[in-house]
Amino acid sequence: MNMSDLNLTAVLYEQDDLRMEERPIPEPGPGEVQLKMQQVGICGSDVHYWTHGRIGDFIVKAPMVLGHEASAVVSKLGPGVTSLKVGDRVAIEPGVPCRVCNYCKTGRYNLCLEMKFCATPPYDGNLARYYVHAADFCFKLPDHVSFEEGALLEPLSVGVHATNRAGVGLGHTVLVCGAGPIGLVNILTAKAKGASTVIVTDIDEARLKVAKEIGADHVVKVSSRDARVTAQAIEDALGDKADISIECSGAAPSIQAAIYATKSGGVVVLVGLGQEIVELPVVNAGVREVDIRGIFRYANCYPTALAMVASGRVNVKSLVTHRFQLEDSVKAFEAAKRGEGIKIMIECGR
Ligand code: NAD
Ligand code: ZN
Repeated sequence: MNMSDLNLTAVLYEQDDLRMEERPIPEPGPGEVQLKMQQVGICGSDVHYWTHGRIGDFIVKAPMVLGHEASAVVSKLGPGVTSLKVGDRVAIEPGVPCRVCNYCKTGRYNLCLEMKFCATPPYDGNLARYYVHAADFCFKLPDHVSFEEGALLEPLSVGVHATNRAGVGLGHTVLVCGAGPIGLVNILTAKAKGASTVIVTDIDEARLKVAKEIGADHVVKVSSRDARVTAQAIEDALGDKADISIECSGAAPSIQAAIYATKSGGVVVLVGLGQEIVELPVVNAGVREVDIRGIFRYANCYPTALAMVASGRVNVKSLVTHRFQLEDSVKAFEAAKRGEGIKIMIECGR
């Protein structure tokens, strides 16, 4: 093999067995583009597949390439591709649905049962030098939007979708529970949508500091497992309950607190995914008409996320705290496992 033909790739063989290996460079099929990968962010789910070998019913049964928060340069066009050209800089929306089922046809393609999502078993991700993807799930980046920002459109899209489902609008008070990367993108999108006050909870002081830096108006350090105590602390800080709560920790006491801390007639959006079965104050939610809504990833949110970043209305740059080269991906994953920083980016291009 010629050196320039090599395709260094991060492959998860099974739990705790992440290897860097050379694979062939893939060729694009009809409607696809070959991509020279640039930046790939590490997501909590990538780390979880590595440390646990599974997330719920998604089990790593065969070697799987990790990575799904990515940007790239188009290096080859498959037959029929007219929307992109070689050299275009793109953000990659990692999930490609079937396009023909009822969910797809009605626009809720994130719910498609045939979804092929990068680094969700059995589908490969894109933490590699080269990768092939459907051209219509690649979004051209303006010159002034960096590859790191392009990769960050993935978590940002989760924030766009969650705040859409929550109905965040002008003048709302919004509670964001959990200040990990997903909580942080929800702070950014809630603010951009006109929320007048965003209050953020976490059990970790360092994460709350970052929340403040990116625009949270109030922060509450959670120190009790009693959800009513936490909800009261939130209400004390706001002077009232929140109009909308976006739960981004998945922790049971936090979901409970989100319900108690939301105004009657308000909305709680469940973003965090923790235990399968959680005890919740459903009578409290029921008699106060607090709507509880789930979200799953996003649909039709990449263009919005890109427009917000390109216009400067949302600044995601400060989320990146660590940078590694593709060769050092295992080191990058070790840093992520230790819980260091916020977003760890891996540079794949040279
Ligand atoms: P993360 O683990 O980095 O962040 C979670 C944060 O919650 C941490 O800062 C943690 O300290 C905090 N926390 C823990 N217990 C808490 C409590 N009782 N009260 C308040 N805060 C508490 O994870 P992340 O990458 O930010 O993702 C957040 C969650 O969103 C995860 O559960 C992830 O699986 C989920 N997620 C869901 C979707 C979806 O489509 N629904 C998409 C992406 C991520
Ligand atoms: Zn479908």
